[in-house]
Amino acid sequence: MSKKDLILLALHPSPILDLMECALFSAGFAVASARDRQGMEKAIHEAIPSLLIIGEKFSSEGGFPLSQEILQRFPTLPIFLYAEKDSDGLAISVLKAGLSGYLYPPIKNSELVDEVQRGLTRARKLGDWLRREVKRTTASLAEKADFSEGERQKLDAIISNIQDGVIVMDKRRRVILANRAVYDIFDLKDASILGKLLTDAIPNEDLRALLARANDGVLKYHEVNFNDGRVYNAQYTPIPHVGSAVTMQDISYLKELDRLKSDFIHTISHDLRSPLTAILGYAELVERTGQLAPTQLEFLHRLQGSAQHITTLVNDLLDLGRLDAGFDTRREAVRLDNVLKYSLDLFENQIRKKNIKLTVEIAPDLKTLRANPIRIRQMLDNLVGNAIKYTPEHGSVRVGLSMEGDQIVMKVADTGVGIPPEEQGRVFEKFYRASNVAKGLQGSGVGLAIVKSIVESHQGRVWVESTLGEGSTFIVLLPAQE
Ligand code: ADP
Repeated sequence: MSKKDLILLALHPSPILDLMECALFSAGFAVASARDRQGMEKAIHEAIPSLLIIGEKFSSEGGFPLSQEILQRFPTLPIFLYAEKDSDGLAISVLKAGLSGYLYPPIKNSELVDEVQRGLTRARKLGDWLRREVKRTTASLAEKADFSEGERQKLDAIISNIQDGVIVMDKRRRVILANRAVYDIFDLKDASILGKLLTDAIPNEDLRALLARANDGVLKYHEVNFNDGRVYNAQYTPIPHVGSAVTMQDISYLKELDRLKSDFIHTISHDLRSPLTAILGYAELVERTGQLAPTQLEFLHRLQGSAQHITTLVNDLLDLGRLDAGFDTRREAVRLDNVLKYSLDLFENQIRKKNIKLTVEIAPDLKTLRANPIRIRQMLDNLVGNAIKYTPEHGSVRVGLSMEGDQIVMKVADTGVGIPPEEQGRVFEKFYRASNVAKGLQGSGVGLAIVKSIVESHQGRVWVESTLGEGSTFIVLLPAQE
């Protein structure tokens, strides 16, 4: 017990008050007393007591409500309630109020001193525990801060040694991190780009286009091309609470492989054309040379069918080669709704046979395109043809043409088999067919590659949104004619 512990007695003047003052003073405590609420507030304001004894009937508010108010301000202050007599509900009320205990007459001096000491010891223990907890939590926070510092350095080392370019930006697109690879890729010498707007720090058109398109929340990838032939795949990723990041991988070797593959396919396709023309020509002549038995005729037709199929594929591949080489330069005003009509006419029979419900929605404000009408027709034929092909009987196909700013939006939606999520990015590759294509459903996997090449040669974008087993929507954006 410290002799300096101050005990505040909030009691109306009475012999009990005098008695308590005497007993506590003799036990070595400092004692202060308050006769009313104002006096009590003043005393607390001057020096916070170590313990408070408050009369049940103190002040007009009464001891209970007052002690609760005080506990709100000083949660660790031990408070005893002095009641004029013991009652059944007293203990419960004291507990409910969160007080340390209660006293009632007759009360011996030694009992009073013991109770006060007990209250002080408990309060001291609570104080010690609180201090220890605060220390422990602070230490653990400090430890965590040290740990994060170490972790941060580790992360810095990893990021700076990554071969891919990594740029992190804040919400206003100012660079907050750029690794060594970024400086090498853009040949930035040593001038720091930290704190600068990315588009000012690295004035690269492809990077600018990636950021501009990332705003629409659609395109997250973009190729960044360099004059020396290097090609990087730049990916944009929003980072919650930070801003965004751009990562760049060198795909020059993949591009070169793709070019070699395309050259090879183009050469083969070209070389196949003449023998195929000969096969089809002679097959036609066979029919004219004389009467054929029904089986012979059937075999001949099958042969013609297969040769025709290969011819179509070869022509598709040659088309693809021409598109990829940038030979498609014909441009004229094209009304997409007119071309769509021709395309739908082509599939009329199939739509009827499969009992497919076709819906066409054309916005009245649809603008014209500057495009090659033959290629646009080819694109539509492929998308609409696929929607019908991959939709079971009694399904539905919906084609929509609308405007979004100065872009024409075409949507071809079906209620077909859908495409597995992990394969949706690959269906535009040459020869790629999704794993869920039904056996026996013919196709070469070239149609969508042609669609992509046509769309891109018209400065547009194409992508698919699909749910397996529910259907797919192919979306094409094309810039309208100015
Ligand atoms: P294919 O000749 O196989 O139809 P495409 O290049 O036109 O080739 O399409 C590539 C693949 O994309 C298809 O094999 C199929 O797996 C998938 N696909 C294309 N369109 C659809 C569609 N509307 N619904 C479901 N899958 C589709």
